[in-house]
Parts: sequence; structure tokens; C-alpha cells
Amino acid sequence: MKSFPKIELHRHLDGSLRFETILEYGKKLGIFDHLKTNGMSADDFKKVIWNKVKILNPMGSLAAVLDSFWLTQKVMADEAIIEQVAFENVEDCYLEGIVLAELRFAPVFIAQGKKLSHASIIQSVCRGVERALKKFPIQIGLIYIIPRGLDHEQNVASNKTLLQLLKTDSLASKLIVGADLADVERMDDMPRFVPMIDELRASGLKITVHSGEDTNASFLTRSFECYRPLRIGHGIKVVDDKNVLSQAKDLGIHFEVSPTSNYLTRCVPSLEEHPIRKMMEQGLSISINSDDPHIMNIDLRHEYKMLEQVHKFTLEEFRDINKNALKASFMPEQIKKDLARLF
Ligand SMILES: [Zn+2]
Repeated sequence: MKSFPKIELHRHLDGSLRFETILEYGKKLGIFDHLKTNGMSADDFKKVIWNKVKILNPMGSLAAVLDSFWLTQKVMADEAIIEQVAFENVEDCYLEGIVLAELRFAPVFIAQGKKLSHASIIQSVCRGVERALKKFPIQIGLIYIIPRGLDHEQNVASNKTLLQLLKTDSLASKLIVGADLADVERMDDMPRFVPMIDELRASGLKITVHSGEDTNASFLTRSFECYRPLRIGHGIKVVDDKNVLSQAKDLGIHFEVSPTSNYLTRCVPSLEEHPIRKMMEQGLSISINSDDPHIMNIDLRHEYKMLEQVHKFTLEEFRDINKNALKASFMPEQIKKDLARLF
């Protein structure tokens, strides 16, 4: 599974920090000091941090999951660390046998509670990716995220900054290929987000939206109509409604599926009951993704192995899935054409 060339379209760079990186910077920054009790050994302290930043079982409470994300978020405290995190994300992808990955991040999420501008966050991520691209033979694109649940004024300001950078910063305009609306879909406030997504699309970015994950199929119809996305993040509820399913097929929507993530966030009761095979057999274009690999203690190879064992996916099916993923990628056509020979 390492040598099989893989395409990954849905992976959160800011939800995927290596444990060693979290430890190193977290300790320096004193982020975990409150977790240490008197007389606790170094090993025990490490275990406490591990349990805080990893989601290993279907989430008991939303608070526990948010805790993991926010502790991880705190580690990205300055430009140098953000650059390093971006670099390591690319290296991780390369080591997992990924030939093309689209990494996404939310400047507004990373900026919370820090004195960092959205521009410096975006530029740090771009620098880290560019540095890694000089070292590893892999294709990387970036997706800019608007987090639905965070402050609207900040989202508006971040959009403005990004649109400006796309015009003035050659590295940002080269690397950033798409935009995404993420975070709790029930908090979706369309009148606010539709103009923002329209603006991003008009600037040349391709659109994907987190939808139909923990909600129901009707949210997908709404997403298709309001945001006119080319792809949907998760969208697993599409199989619950045959009208929505045929709408998705008519529109040629691609689904970025992350099975283990869906299981850990309790969007499906078990890995066995995940609808990924059903989605594929219904003729939808799908890809296999890890979502937040380090937080969920998985990588992309884990997802392939799991699908092989639990859902009996064959090599031929993996090849077809990756062909569709490549077709649905937001990367420049020439790059996609060059990689097509692998499948
Ligand atoms: Zn996601």
C-alpha cells in the first residue's frame, strides 16, 4: 500500500501535526504545563499529552474532540512553526506513497488567540510547502478554508486577504488551487457564505464544501444549489436519498470520503456500515482520504488496508478510485495529465 500511487484530496494540514512536533513545541511553549502534576514521570506526562491530542475511539463528547484540535492549534504559535508543520505534512504525504495531495487549512482557525495576521499564516504555509516540494517528488496544492463556526468578521477579513494575496503573491497564487467551507454544517449561514464562496470562485479557485457528513441528504441538495461545488467533503448521507443521489450524478459531483474519520466522529455506527462501497457501486466518483490523520492516529495507508480488509476493495477498484480522484483534482491540467499514466 505504500508503493501504490495514491491521490489524496481531503487532508487538513492544521489538523495533522506529528506527535513529536506537538511535544517539542508544546513543551517549549508551555502549552501542556496545566496537565502535569507533581511527581509525574516524563513518560507518564507524554502519555497524558498523547491521550489529550489523539482521538482514538468514537468520540465520547464533542468537547473532547475540540480539546484535541485546540491543543494542536496552540502549537502553531508562530510563522516558523507553521512553516515547519506545512513542510512535515508534505513529507508525511510523500512517505505514505501519495503522488498528489491537496492540503487544506483555515487561516482564521490557526490565528485564534494569537498575534498572527492571516497573510503571515497563509504565506508561512506556502513557504513550508514550497521548501518541501524542493526536497520531495510529489505534487501539492493548497485549499483555503472558511470555518463556518468562527467569527464572521474574521472570515470576511481573511477572504479579503487571500484575494489580495492571489493577485500579489506569486507563491500563494501558484499553490492555492481551491476553497472550502468547513466546520459544523448546522451552523451554515448561507446568506453570509454564498457571496464569499462566489468571490473565491470568481478569483479562479475551485470549490469544495464539507456537507452531508453529520447532517442529512437535504443539506447536500442545499450545498449543490447554493455553493455550486465541484466536490463535496464527506457527503456520505447521499446514499440515503435517491433523488439527491441522482442529482449528484447529474452534476458530476466528486465525493471526498474519509471512512475512519466518519467512524470516529460517530457519523457512521461502524466501519463495516460505512457507505463507501455503496457510493462507488451507485456510480459516484469518490476518493479515499485521511481527513485529520495525526489527530486520528491513522495515515492514508491505514485507510486502504482497512478498505481492503473490511470492504474487500480490490487493486483494480483502488486504481479506478484514484483515476477519478485525479480527474477531480483542482491541480493544473498539465500536472494531472502527467500523473495519469500511473493509473
Ligand atoms: Zn474535513
